[in-house]
Amino acid sequence: MDKVVPPNDRTWNTASWTPKLRGAKYCSRACGNGCTKAEYVAAVKKGEALAKAVGNGFKPRVWENMGWYYSAVKGVAAIHPNHDGTYTCYFNSTPQFVTTSVDPQVALYSAQAHAERHVELTLQQLKAIGAKMS
Ligand SMILES: [Zn+2]
Repeated sequence: MDKVVPPNDRTWNTASWTPKLRGAKYCSRACGNGCTKAEYVAAVKKGEALAKAVGNGFKPRVWENMGWYYSAVKGVAAIHPNHDGTYTCYFNSTPQFVTTSVDPQVALYSAQAHAERHVELTLQQLKAIGAKMS
């Protein structure tokens, strides 16, 4: 029997997202947008400037996906520039807690325990990015 290979295994693997420099182009096979080295350099510079503007240990992140993009990241926080001059902060720390039990109270207590642990982790994450808390 033939092994079934999902299309994503060939088109979305790590190697295919490795950009290659060809003349002025700096683009990966998976992207295929024809991104340029100049666009990459601009994204790196803007990412560094954004990280510096945010301060507090934020680092630039640059990636390619039909163009070169940048953000400033630290811990669970990622700050992205928008086209209208505003910035969006993704604070990636709030999961949904889903628990199951034959006893409805155990299901509730289990969800509460997960949520309480999450509060502890969120406080740790806030401290890790230097948030001032009262
Ligand atoms: Zn590209």
